[in-house]
Amino acid sequence: MLVVMKRDATKEEIEAVVERIKEFGITPIPLPGAERTAIGTFGTTSREAAEAVESLPGVSEVVPVSRPFKLASREVIASDTVVRIGDVPVGHGHPLAVVAGPCAVESREVTLETARGVRAAGGAALRGGAFKPRTSPYTFRGMGEEGLEILAEARAVTGLPIVTEVLAPEDVDAVARVADCLQIGARNMQNFSLLDAVGEQTKPVLLKRGMSATVEELLLSAEYVLARGNRNVILCERGIRTFERYTRNTFDVNAIPLLKRLTHLPVLADPSHGTGKWYLVAPVALAAVAAGADGLLIEVHPSPDHALSDGFQSLNFDNFRALMSAVPHVARAVGRTEQVAAR
Ligand code: PEP
Ligand code: MN
Repeated sequence: MLVVMKRDATKEEIEAVVERIKEFGITPIPLPGAERTAIGTFGTTSREAAEAVESLPGVSEVVPVSRPFKLASREVIASDTVVRIGDVPVGHGHPLAVVAGPCAVESREVTLETARGVRAAGGAALRGGAFKPRTSPYTFRGMGEEGLEILAEARAVTGLPIVTEVLAPEDVDAVARVADCLQIGARNMQNFSLLDAVGEQTKPVLLKRGMSATVEELLLSAEYVLARGNRNVILCERGIRTFERYTRNTFDVNAIPLLKRLTHLPVLADPSHGTGKWYLVAPVALAAVAAGADGLLIEVHPSPDHALSDGFQSLNFDNFRALMSAVPHVARAVGRTEQVAAR
């Protein structure tokens, strides 16, 4: 349930409601708003509990929350959350945030060159994995801590904030010291101890949809992070596994407007992993912009043929520039004027 307090409810009345909710074995989460406070709850709410709370002084109404996710739900938090990656706002009402860079941090030279290319084309942030989740243990698994240092240098040189993946709870502190945003990859979307660990620190989290996860499972994973106290979660649609073999994954464009309806969290689209083919990345990216994505995650490499991972789905600088110049036309065509503002 969501307990909506009256506009003039006092601090004492709010505290009394919190205490009463606890007596029913339910966890209360106060959600102070600009005009009034609401109190969300975790745990199954009995009718007896709802009625007892509704009769307390200062309570305006008790609204049943039907979704299994709570803090991620628009039923509980109606207004759009804007998450800052470094000083870049991501979310409704802000220019489309394009996070771009190599799949993996492969070397200092390639990373710096890519960062400069991304910056020059108008990208908002640099992505690149120092710790890489790979299907085969015999492929390149990233440069680890050395890769983090390279990312920090790329930020210093270009000013672009850094998004990079964390694979394990024991690495969260080290990655969070450098990253402006921690990526949880598709393979870890339901690694619940990792979700707890990133929920307990303050850097924003970019949570990618698991390759066989439903939209509801994605939102329940976001709920793990939110429930630990970190409210800065960005969701990312990156394609799901289907019977289609020509593409690496099937990019689920449905998920974008659906997520925007179900949740207040910002939504990015990753057409690189969503398609697996560089020549499909731009059209699918533009479809995601038309569908309402708050930003894009794009793999870019100065020489995709030589990339150590995901070269086939990476854009070269020319193709990335072409995509960047097409985005405002599509945004304008669907009336997303705020997204067209120059960065
Ligand atoms: C990535 O972003 O490089 C990545 C590994 O993506 P995903 O987790 O979506 O496969
Ligand atoms: Mn990749």
